[in-house]
Amino acid sequence: MGITYLERLVLICGEAFDSFDAGALIRTESKTLMPRWMVTCPQCNQKFAHTEISAEVMKQASRDPFRIVSKPVIPHAGDKRTCPNCKNESVVHPFNLLYEST
Ligand SMILES: [Zn+2]
Repeated sequence: MGITYLERLVLICGEAFDSFDAGALIRTESKTLMPRWMVTCPQCNQKFAHTEISAEVMKQASRDPFRIVSKPVIPHAGDKRTCPNCKNESVVHPFNLLYEST
């Protein structure tokens, strides 16, 4: 005995639903929409992300009268980061951070 048209439709829909991971899509989107602190490599001038600005920090900034986004805590001596382009290590200071919204 073969399956009915309705049963086949349920099977097709079930398969389509399995292959579509909506959660993953939302996760990817929210990640790309995140504003970031960028630094420019002093060796090759390549801009790369230092830190992603969390939703919590953005929420704080929206409550701030000057809309100041608080910078990540960087040790007094600076934060060492390797440039993804030229692989040179550079020391990042808070004043090196550039805000970039996506
Ligand atoms: Zn570089």
